[in-house]
Amino acid sequence: MTKYVYDFSEGNKDMKDLLGGKGANLAEMTNMGLPVPPGFTITTEACLAYLKQETFPDGLMPETEEHLVALESAMDKRLGDPSDPLLVSVRSGAKFSMPGMMDTVLNLGLNEESLKGLAQQSGEDLRFARDAYRRFIQMFGKIVMDVPGDAFEHALDEAKARKGSDAQDTDLDEEDLSGLIGEFLGIYRQHTGSEFPTDPREQLKLAIEAVFRSWNGRRARDYRRQNKISDDLGTAVNVVAMVFGNRGEDSGTGVAFTRDPSNGEKVPYGDYLQNAQGEDVVAGIRNTLPLAELERIDAESYRGLREVMDTLEGLYKDMCDIEFTIEKAKLWILQTRVGKRTAFAEWVMAFDMLGEGLIDEDAALLRVDPDRLEELFKRRVKADGAQPLAKGLNASPGAAVGKVVFTADEAEERAKAGDKVVLVRRETTPDDYHGMIASQGILTSAGGTNSHAAVVARGEGIPAVCGADAVKIDAPAGSFTANGTTVKQGEVITIDGFTGNVFVGELPLEESLLEKARSGDEAARGEKIWQAFERLMAVADARRRLRVRANADTPDQSANARERGAQGIGLCRTEHMFLGEERVGAVRQMIFADDEAEEQEAYDVLLPLQREDFVGIFRAMDGLPVTVRLLDPPLHEFLPDLTTLSVEVALGKERGEDVSEQEQALRKVRELHEANPMLGLRGVRLGIVKPGLYAMQVRAICEAAARVKKEGGDPKVEIMIPLVATKPELEQMRAELEPVAADVLSREGVELEHLEWGTMIELPRAAVTAGEIAEVAEFFSFGTNDLTQTAFGFSRDDIGKFVGMYEERKLVPANPFVTVDRPGVGRLMQIAVEEGKAANPELHLGICGEHGGDPASVTFCHEIGLDYVSCSPYRVETARLSAGQAAVGSAESATR
Ligand code: PEP
Ligand code: MG
Repeated sequence: MTKYVYDFSEGNKDMKDLLGGKGANLAEMTNMGLPVPPGFTITTEACLAYLKQETFPDGLMPETEEHLVALESAMDKRLGDPSDPLLVSVRSGAKFSMPGMMDTVLNLGLNEESLKGLAQQSGEDLRFARDAYRRFIQMFGKIVMDVPGDAFEHALDEAKARKGSDAQDTDLDEEDLSGLIGEFLGIYRQHTGSEFPTDPREQLKLAIEAVFRSWNGRRARDYRRQNKISDDLGTAVNVVAMVFGNRGEDSGTGVAFTRDPSNGEKVPYGDYLQNAQGEDVVAGIRNTLPLAELERIDAESYRGLREVMDTLEGLYKDMCDIEFTIEKAKLWILQTRVGKRTAFAEWVMAFDMLGEGLIDEDAALLRVDPDRLEELFKRRVKADGAQPLAKGLNASPGAAVGKVVFTADEAEERAKAGDKVVLVRRETTPDDYHGMIASQGILTSAGGTNSHAAVVARGEGIPAVCGADAVKIDAPAGSFTANGTTVKQGEVITIDGFTGNVFVGELPLEESLLEKARSGDEAARGEKIWQAFERLMAVADARRRLRVRANADTPDQSANARERGAQGIGLCRTEHMFLGEERVGAVRQMIFADDEAEEQEAYDVLLPLQREDFVGIFRAMDGLPVTVRLLDPPLHEFLPDLTTLSVEVALGKERGEDVSEQEQALRKVRELHEANPMLGLRGVRLGIVKPGLYAMQVRAICEAAARVKKEGGDPKVEIMIPLVATKPELEQMRAELEPVAADVLSREGVELEHLEWGTMIELPRAAVTAGEIAEVAEFFSFGTNDLTQTAFGFSRDDIGKFVGMYEERKLVPANPFVTVDRPGVGRLMQIAVEEGKAANPELHLGICGEHGGDPASVTFCHEIGLDYVSCSPYRVETARLSAGQAAVGSAESATR
């Protein structure tokens, strides 16, 4: 019989797959003797079985009952006992934390009878008991029975308003709460058509089911998709004896981080809310106090908490975030996990912990996420004395400029239409997730640094300012007002997630600290983030086997890439050099040429222009290899548009003008028109059809290299033929072009030590015949853009229309144009590597498709034994880091 339920004393922190992160960590803390309320965990396996068969698996309920009875006897109370009730919380907890994405029900076990027992137990505190009950009805109604949360919120707001304009929920007395309970039960009845369940065991069963189901809720699915978490994990359910933070001023609840999750500094950080239950902190119901205030309020509990924080950080060797509750001056720990943090904090913490000896170099390297590295280079607001409209908490770093929107749906819609938006809300809830991730930034008027908005924004790398309480939103009017200024929907604001400032209009943004430090700014170089970056990148560089090159087409791009650590150019696309009026004219002449002499005239114009481009690139990349790809795009891209030209000819004729020239052009355009240009006359086919073209390019490359060599430089040249499908294509090209190169070099009296000839592997046929092709190639570079296009038959220009739906429905594991599709495209690459190497052991191997800068794809390239990856200059650091991690990761798994 499968075991579906584990007491906290039966688990440990390594059982996350089965018990979820929360369950595993509660078990660990229980066994360490930390003050965790007793409870048990229902496994992810039970959830998966439930979701599959849509009913509880055999044995689950009896086993749950056994553990419940054990919990009752440990607490010496019975669930919902009218005289002295045990109450429990039912909390979701998947393997990976998904903050606020799934459901939790508190105070379960309450009904009209047990309410009295709870009041009695707590010294006749009827207010407390009624508050607990109204919260339970609200949460159970919303989460378990899908009653719209707004209905309850609205009733609560009205009750508060009746007490006065500034009244808080704590101002409601026992009579108010009694009225509110009546209203809540009515709302429940009205929306569900049934009475609120009074049997505590029935309540528990329904709540467990609801938590299981929340795994497949929209926001949980959206979150998993965004964060690349598998849909197949399921959630565990934790049933925990309730402790109460809402039992008066000597009670409260909070969230503590062992270090600052925003900037990484080693100082305890968090929020505390007196006389409140856990959900209040996250939901931003009342503004919270900074954690340090707890020392003043309750020194003993604060000291206890600090001890727990130290213990947990020592155990997990990482920053932990801890949810705690203080009930009548007694501290309880409700949850811990390795805390979410900004990309910025991630680097600072890893660097500090390495310095403190808490972790070693490899662990520090693996702590930083290459997918988030670009965040560190984000620009900042250059305020220059501009007056902020409002100030809130610096909840998530970065600067955002965008048009104000007030709802998540609006944010999503506008963003889809290409607008940049800032989502402005009182607070966010998990239902807003889709709009949050579509926004440039998030501004809330309520809520602390651990509100839902803050946690999600930090996790997603979206700049956010929270708790800017001067901001008063008037939703019906579609505007907000702050300190006397009104900002309407659609107006632009700037928010600064580093300082918490909010400005009207668009402020200029300035370079990040890292960019400044890189360009030599001494003050920026003194910042810890730069030191962390330098140190950990040095570890990555020392560990990695893959070299990293850049895709660059100009001397400027090459210099930029080199500054970022590129060890060469893996792809110089020469078609970019054919743009510009003079060049396009010459290209057209080449295409239209009726004889070789005319064609040659065009080459004579292009050759010196190309040569100058190459000289600049070889100089910028002196001593490093530069792979120049001969011209690839379809010829028609250089021609006038067929329809426009047809109209021009027709109109000219009608007016009786001489259109013979246009007619001739039209004839050529028609002749060259292709139904499917991506699969048409491009790449090596162009080289074969227009032999003078590639010869001109090779001449320009070699003349440029000769010039740089004569200047005392060290050009390393690799000439790459694109879109090869067969060995004879490459063989013929080399036979035609090598003599051209030899001729130039001998004329120039120069010898190049490094001149290699190779091809791209970007067609399935090339991949599966790589053994043959390798006999005539010195290197392969995987063009995974075209290889993905041709392996899937997905047009790379049109895929945007449906790839999102494909990902959502799991028809592809991820967007294959972003991450190498291992089973298909990856398999083709692997065949090409193995068979290419077998035929030619000297073969060099690289990748130059967009995947070369994607961390997961870099790992794959490491695994199949490529020599280098090549990516856009801005992703060079990401690739270096990923390559270092891939090396450490595979070394770790080899020793495991
Ligand atoms: C490729 O196909 O992966 C490639 C790098 O070439 P391009 O994107 O220029 O077609
Ligand atoms: Mg290509």
